Formats: sequence, C-alpha cells, structure tokens
Amino acid sequence: MSQFWSPLVRTLTPYVPGEQPKIAGLIKLNTNENPYPPSPAVMAAMHAVSADALRLYPDPDSSALKQTLAGYHGVQPNEIFVGNGSDEVLAFAFMALLKHSAPLLFPDITYSFYPVYANLFGIDYEEVPLNDAMEIDIADYAKRECGGIIFPNPNAPTGIPLPLQKIEELLIAQPNAVIVVDEAYVDFGGETALPLIRKYPNLLVVRTFSKSRSLAGLRVGFAMGNAALIEGMERVKNSFNSYPMDRLAVAGAVASYGDDAYFREKVQAIVDSREQMTQELQQLGFTVLPSRTNFIFARHPTIPAEQLAAGLRERAIIVRHFKHPRIDQYLRISIGNPEECKLLVQTLALLT
Ligand code: PMP
Repeated sequence: MSQFWSPLVRTLTPYVPGEQPKIAGLIKLNTNENPYPPSPAVMAAMHAVSADALRLYPDPDSSALKQTLAGYHGVQPNEIFVGNGSDEVLAFAFMALLKHSAPLLFPDITYSFYPVYANLFGIDYEEVPLNDAMEIDIADYAKRECGGIIFPNPNAPTGIPLPLQKIEELLIAQPNAVIVVDEAYVDFGGETALPLIRKYPNLLVVRTFSKSRSLAGLRVGFAMGNAALIEGMERVKNSFNSYPMDRLAVAGAVASYGDDAYFREKVQAIVDSREQMTQELQQLGFTVLPSRTNFIFARHPTIPAEQLAAGLRERAIIVRHFKHPRIDQYLRISIGNPEECKLLVQTLALLT
C-alpha cells in the first residue's frame, strides 16, 4: 500500500470489470458486448472527422449529439446529459442527485458498480433482496426512507424486466427521492420509463451505446430526465471535466442514430438468437431466467456453474460466473452471433 495514498483510497474496493483477453479465436461471451460491428455509417462519420477538428477542443455541450438524441427520443436537449459511457453518467448522477440524509437503495443482485460508486462518493446504501423469483419487488422499496433508488431495468445479471406500471408506483411512493432507472439493456425487449420523465421530476433514465449500438469501445452514454436534474449533473460535470465527449465519439454516436434500420436489424438478430439459445439450454436441462437483454442467466440442476465456466474456458469460450452466494449456481452468457451461440450450446452439451 502506498504511503502517499489518501485515506479514502485506502478504503476503496474498485469494480472488477469482466476480462478482456486478447487471444485469437476466443469466443467472448462474458461482458455483454454486441457480436455485430457498428453500422458502416458510424465508421464513415468517424473517418470524416478532420485533423483540424481534432486540433480544437470539442463542443463542451456536445450539442450535435444532444440534438440527435432529443429528436429521436422526443425530449428537449436540456433534458439530456451525455458522458463517456453510462458508467460515467452514473457517476455524475451519484455525485449530483443522491441525498446523503438517508441510504441509497438498490437490489442485492444487480450491477456491481453501484456499491463501488456509493463507497467512492461516501453514500450510505442498503441492498434490497430480490424476491424468490429473482425479481425486484417494488413493495420493498416503496415504504423505506431513502436518499435515492437505483436499479437496471431489465436487471443485470438476471435479465428480468420490471413492468413500467411498477416503476410508476414507485415514483408515486417516493416523490422526494431520485429514482435512477439504468436502461443499459432496454432495447432488447424491455419497457422504457422514458415517457414518465415529464410527469415525475424525480426520474432519471440512463442509456448506453455499448450494448444495442455495438459501441462499447467508443464510450458513450446518456441520461434523460427533468431539466432540473440534468442541470444538477451539468453543474458537477462543469466542475470536473467540461469536455467529456471527444469529437470522434460525438461523430460516431450521431451517425449511429442516423442508421436506424441497421440498429433494428441487429437488435432483432440478437433477440432471435437469445430465444433460440434459451430453448436449446432448456433442452439440456438448464433453468434459464426470462431475459429481455442481450445475455441469459442460466443454471444447471446438478453441475456447479464454476465447473461449467472452467470447462468452457478450456475450450476457448468465456462466460461470466459470479461468486455471490445467491447466484453462484448461475452462468451469465452474452448472446453472440449464431455461430458462437451454436458452439456454446454444443460445448455445454459435452460438459453436461
Ligand atoms: N449499467 C449496466 C446495468 C451495465 O451492465 C453496464 C455494462 N457493464 C453499464 C451500466 C455500463 O455500460 P457503459 O459504461 O459501457 O455504458
């Protein structure tokens, strides 16, 4: 441990991202990336960024991107916050919007960055257990005094969605706490809470380009909510890094929204593969949770998940296994292209 570290740094337990090994031929189904490349229009737009443009600082407001997102999603530019991936957007939400007077609430089984940020920003939190069906139960959040609530919808790593009506019930029950709905996977069949942002000034919806738009490497995420929430986040951003979005990212992200047909086609291909893989794993005896994401969460009745993950790895396929006691019987498998899905199922058939 370095003698030069601040007391805060000594207390941190950083998030451990899924591995990114660089082994040729590896089938990488561990971090929910999109198996398809981004639209050719994205690549063309990034190539078209001039050397002279890169010499200059980018637009601090990322207006071109906000205009594009506003037009597509039917909101105003001042209802949008953009950042370097939704992880960064979430960090700004944690800094700007959560009250410190009562604990932040999130599910016990969820995106593991939430407790990491809570620790970093000195926010007290409570983990609310999922119910026996591995679902978020709104009743467990509605009556508790809290400084904010955050969960993904659909949840990760379960893949299970929460109906919009439940989110509205929660917004009504907790009018004084900000409710952050992390919609990283919503495009794969979830129900967006976006239509509720006008009615509920305490709702923040967070999105990413990393999953459905095949741009995990570009680092683009955004949030939509009441203009006052966004203004709070902008105030923190401008006190921290006033140029988070670089010119290449803005050009690529704008172009992605310009090719809606490509986006829809690839999302549909992944949804189709997910449904097929679910059936095939069920035929092998797995229990598969009902996913509305680009991954599935599956459990074999007898063979330990850790053993299956190791067996897959020996055969150059990597999936995610979590050590959390409630879910250590499960494998989280990202949906690959049809060939990758086929190999995954064939290999699991050998191992089971
Ligand atoms: N939220 C959830 C629920 C996620 O699973 C992820 C991806 N690991 C993120 C946010 C972050 O995605 P990104 O920073 O790439 O936008």
